[in-house]
Amino acid sequence: METVYFDNNATTAVAPEVFEAMTPFLTRLYGNPSSIHTFGGQVMAHIDQARERLAALLGAQTSEIIFTSCGTESDNAALRSALLTSKGRNKLVVSQVEHPAILNVAKDLERNGTLVERIPVDANGRLDMERAREMIDEQTALVSVMWANNETGNIQPVRELAELAHSKGALFHTDAVQAVGKVPMNMSEGWVDFLSLSGHKLHAPKGVGALYVRRGVRFHPFVIGGHQEDSRRAGTENVASVVGLGMAAELAAQNIDNENTQVSKLRDRLEQGILNAIPEVRVNGDREHRLPNTTNISFEFIEGESILNLLDQYGICASSGSACTTGSLEPSHVLRAMGLPYTAAHGAIRFSLSRYNTIEEVDFVLEKLPPIIARLREISPYWNQKN
Ligand code: PLP
Repeated sequence: METVYFDNNATTAVAPEVFEAMTPFLTRLYGNPSSIHTFGGQVMAHIDQARERLAALLGAQTSEIIFTSCGTESDNAALRSALLTSKGRNKLVVSQVEHPAILNVAKDLERNGTLVERIPVDANGRLDMERAREMIDEQTALVSVMWANNETGNIQPVRELAELAHSKGALFHTDAVQAVGKVPMNMSEGWVDFLSLSGHKLHAPKGVGALYVRRGVRFHPFVIGGHQEDSRRAGTENVASVVGLGMAAELAAQNIDNENTQVSKLRDRLEQGILNAIPEVRVNGDREHRLPNTTNISFEFIEGESILNLLDQYGICASSGSACTTGSLEPSHVLRAMGLPYTAAHGAIRFSLSRYNTIEEVDFVLEKLPPIIARLREISPYWNQKN
């Protein structure tokens, strides 16, 4: 069975060019980049090149990039550093729709005395800026709001929030794990203090990420030990993966226009096809401000998990809620924060595409999905009660 992979917000395929760039570092170039000898030392040049490539994608300086093990580590590092270094300020402001990599760190900090406020969203997942203005004050150390939501693809007004944070003397962090490579970014504009990203969301391997820290912003390391990464992130470098991330960044920079034309065209074809063919469906989130690759659709009165299971029989991969909440039958915290009715939140499916998807795959899903929905609704007590 061929796989039709529409779950790219969970993880992406490693690009062939990335794999190729990595392999020498898993075979012959295995030296430790910190070693004095030439064999090890030559590896450092490739880490430097990866840093240059990633900095170019972000419009950042190389000294502002710290390689980490994943998006989650970058999020942890940013939040904890900002709170540790902001003397006299003890408040963290996040949104209700952040990834658990932020929400659970916030909860942990809260247990240890940090004041945490969570900005609500409206029915479309847009931040309540009025509430944000009330919450962000002179006590605030850090405002952390994701650039784009992993479940709905919603793009948040990050620049406005950053300006709000700065007007009160607070720092601004954005979890851009889903946005990097899909949304043009230019850190040299200077309004972002910290930005998290993850390799495996942009066709690099799992287990590598990065944190951008704006020059001049104080940083307290999260992983403490040796002097790697200019003493900002200890641990022998994951050389092959760092090199892979560098190559992925280069490819992303080349591909960003395609992402916003070809990939979004495929996404729109899928979304419109579903809306045309199936009754009682709704697109969740803000369709105007959204990642080009994501659509989150509720098929009312049936369970998302049942839809996924039947799609899986055809090799079609999608997701209900975020990958991290899959396995529990709790509706996603994002859709709940948006106030979706129970019958819609439970039947939500996220389709997330990439540059490797094709029109044939979209049409295959459009052929298989309507009978699946009809079949599940036939046996749904909620659907039968309603009709
Ligand atoms: N932040 C967001 C928005 C994500 O979507 C994810 C992964 O799904 C993460 C953080 C965590 O990234 P990683 O899997 O690299 O730890």
